[in-house]
Amino acid sequence: MADAVSTGKSGKVVIKNIGLLLSGDIDRPILDANTIVVHDGIITAVGLEKDCDLEGAKTTIDVHQTCVAPGLIDSHVHPVFGDWTPRQNQIGWIDSTMNGGVTTMVSAGEVHLPGRPKDIVGLKALAITAQRSFDNFRPGGVKVIAGAPVIEKGMVEQDFKDLAEAGVTLLGEVGLGSVKAGYEAKEMVAWARKYRIQSTIHTGGPSIPGSGLIDKDVVLEADADVIGHINGGHTSLSEAHVCELCEKSSRAIEIVHNGNERVAIAAAQAALQLKCPHRVILGTDGPAGSGVQPLGMLRLIALLSSLGNIAPELVFCFATGNTAKIRKLNCGLIEVGRAADFVFMDRAQHTAGRDLLESVRLGDIPGIGMVMIDGIVRSERSRNTPPATTVPTVA
Ligand SMILES: [Zn+2]
Repeated sequence: MADAVSTGKSGKVVIKNIGLLLSGDIDRPILDANTIVVHDGIITAVGLEKDCDLEGAKTTIDVHQTCVAPGLIDSHVHPVFGDWTPRQNQIGWIDSTMNGGVTTMVSAGEVHLPGRPKDIVGLKALAITAQRSFDNFRPGGVKVIAGAPVIEKGMVEQDFKDLAEAGVTLLGEVGLGSVKAGYEAKEMVAWARKYRIQSTIHTGGPSIPGSGLIDKDVVLEADADVIGHINGGHTSLSEAHVCELCEKSSRAIEIVHNGNERVAIAAAQAALQLKCPHRVILGTDGPAGSGVQPLGMLRLIALLSSLGNIAPELVFCFATGNTAKIRKLNCGLIEVGRAADFVFMDRAQHTAGRDLLESVRLGDIPGIGMVMIDGIVRSERSRNTPPATTVPTVA
């Protein structure tokens, strides 16, 4: 099981000889730069080596002309406590997912807690405890934004105010609790928004026995900030209804790995056709009945790029900068002032793709050579991905 990660500072870090720099910014997905400079976990310069101050670095990383991208952000996970999931009785899943390039996870509710409280004081206490717990404990260094209460009938405006004042910033999936009608959800989502708590709604059929259907009319009426797993978790609404949601709502379009793959592609393509690629964000919806997928984000990127025929550099933005902007996180983009959370990748050994982006376009997942969070190296060659052809070295 992963240990809590030290909170030591990275000092000055220089990352040089970058062959491909993916920015996370969907308006400009590839940067014309080969060097990043970091001070104490924050990016302080991005540019050409000749223009950067490389003096006095505590750590210098030679990327050997491979790719650097922002660490992936999984917009939809169901953690419980520590690096354990009771859903599949697995330990170490967060650290394992970090080996799949994920540096930040956003909870959509700590729903798998055995005996999860459903009374109002209990669900509030759980959310506050989960928020504190993951704020204090980061398996593999991964930032888990947790403490996402599942709303229940009987909650009043004061409950949302209390949660916000206690540090809760998210709602768990609306619809997983007793609040399933559009008019009820709408009122609570609005209270949450008033206190700056972001909401996500479950979309589609029931996930497991005990959960229920949320159809397109409920999603539209509730008007949550994120249309959670628009491609179902796992059972999807019809493709026509999903496209209607993309068109009629202006909220974030969240596509997950543990959903319907065919509709995942349809939703992403609908967003592009509607000229709103900024709204597309990606998650796994794991751990779930489908299991735990340390490479779920990479698999989803390869799926959308290869079968969805979407440029891979754009799909990486769905999984990084788009999510950071929508979730208001200080990571996910390669720009000065952002957290130094990076994934270092190269084409996997023996892929048919001649370079990283072509390999993804052909449906292969990248090989990860290093993961950095807050300027600190958290893993070198990934134990989970196919081996990267070339990996970075620490000078
Ligand atoms: Zn769900």
